[in-house]
Amino acid sequence: MTTPVVPASVSLPPFIGRAPAALPFVFIGDRLWLDFVNTEESGKASRVDALGDFEAFVRWLQAAAVLDGERAGGIRRRAQQQPSGAAAALVDARRVRASLRALAERGGHLGHVRSAALAEINRVLGRSAGTRRVEARDDGSYARSFVPVGDAFAGLLMPVVESAADALILGELHRVRRCAASRCARVFFDETKNARRRWCDMATCGNRAKAARHRQRVLTTSD
Ligand SMILES: [Zn+2]
Repeated sequence: MTTPVVPASVSLPPFIGRAPAALPFVFIGDRLWLDFVNTEESGKASRVDALGDFEAFVRWLQAAAVLDGERAGGIRRRAQQQPSGAAAALVDARRVRASLRALAERGGHLGHVRSAALAEINRVLGRSAGTRRVEARDDGSYARSFVPVGDAFAGLLMPVVESAADALILGELHRVRRCAASRCARVFFDETKNARRRWCDMATCGNRAKAARHRQRVLTTSD
């Protein structure tokens, strides 16, 4: 089994895997479904989609350790044989992502948003036949995997959707937050003991806020 995680480049924090010639994938959500939501980032004017094409989607699934190299290779071959099926799978992935973003941002306090997301989750779960497994990874950790039968593309989102289902079942939504930086759309699960995580990550948004506070202090003291 090849290692599924895209190696981080030296200049980046370890949680960012840079896919070749593409946007870096960011894994700061602490939950698979939130990392999936974060594949759509807010750019200067509009949203930037790290899942620009089906190949980027497969790379993300590899970087997230949902697919190992062997299965990703199989999916790529299938995508070459059935380009329209692959395109449809990507459209579907983005549709699920939009629903999961709504769940992350508003599901904690809006029942109808939860219901809509639940319908999406059950739509994906319901159409995928296959085998669920738990696999021991090379690094000693364990991961759920799903081996689809029939439509290979239908099962790709299964682990993502199961992760969102877990959030509902475990009652985790009240700990899901959007980054406090107004121009950042990233969402994450707040695992801190006192529920005070505010930033998607300290190296970017957290640092910018700290620098802004510092500038503010310097200005006030020099008045
Ligand atoms: Zn942020």
